[in-house]
Amino acid sequence: MYIFEGDFFKSLFDELKSKGYRIYIPDGYGFKEGEEIKEIKRSKKSAKEFFLPQNEILIKYSDWVEDVPVDNEKRAIVVSPCDARGITLLDKVFLDGLVDPYYKARRDNSLVISIACNKAGDYCFCESLGFSPYSSEGSDVFVAEVDGKYFIELSDKAKDILDIELKEADENDIEKFREKENEVKSTFKRKLNIEGLSGRLKENFESDYWKKVSINCVGCGICTFLCPTCFCFDMLDEGEKEGFRYRAWDSCQFPLYTLESSSHNPRNEKWQRLRNRFYDKFLYMLENKGEIFCVGCGRCISECPAGVDIVEVLEEVGR
Ligand code: SF4
Ligand code: SF4
Repeated sequence: MYIFEGDFFKSLFDELKSKGYRIYIPDGYGFKEGEEIKEIKRSKKSAKEFFLPQNEILIKYSDWVEDVPVDNEKRAIVVSPCDARGITLLDKVFLDGLVDPYYKARRDNSLVISIACNKAGDYCFCESLGFSPYSSEGSDVFVAEVDGKYFIELSDKAKDILDIELKEADENDIEKFREKENEVKSTFKRKLNIEGLSGRLKENFESDYWKKVSINCVGCGICTFLCPTCFCFDMLDEGEKEGFRYRAWDSCQFPLYTLESSSHNPRNEKWQRLRNRFYDKFLYMLENKGEIFCVGCGRCISECPAGVDIVEVLEEVGR
């Protein structure tokens, strides 16, 4: 852990610009290019679109493949710590085993800058998932402002790129940092008990509970589109003899998502699709990738037009 005294963001952004990085800052809705941070407003959209865009051309073709456009732009993206963790979960999908070259090029050329939260948001519950809003996990540059001092952690990648003078934090500094971390952790209003949750999910797969909790769901897919860890996409071709193949975000909340060519649909009913979101994040990904695929950002709660609340739904499973 390091300390920076002075205007850290000015030094950081000047350094990034001199190295050819474009800087993206959350603006409450999405992200916009900028060079200064006045106030941090976590965006409704997560940062996943920088690595897995909503639509992305994979190949352009005519008689044969004419072009494979890979995005190499250097970007520095300012995010919340939970979004930085979300990117590490996407890495498990796109970089572990079969490597996705489009995703990898973006990851290799991007720096993730996370800023510690000063207070838990109304819908946040990252702490219940064992994460701290003062964790640097997934961040190339982690910044926390405590008592007018900037506390900084850098990844090896950031150390290779950035040339900023920092001093080592001493014991006193670290104690202040931990005090602030504990103070912020005490502001979480939402709690999710994940102990025994996978067992309760396994026991209640066939329960009518899923029909009840899905009654208001309108199947809009907002919960999956805004989620920093949802990664499903569809692949489509535009143009018969000449055109492009692209991928576009898809959602397990849409009926076509599981429609088979035989016309059979294993998740024909809305409640089956809603149930899948909970099982996928809290059971299947845990079994397949060793991680719960939720970072507790609360976007799927705050933005759901039907009031489906992932914490309430999971707390009540099996009760
Ligand atoms: S749970 Fe909410 S956000 Fe998700 S599909 Fe249903 S209505 Fe839309
Ligand atoms: S499931 Fe909901 S709370 Fe969890 S990471 Fe996705 S949007 Fe955030």
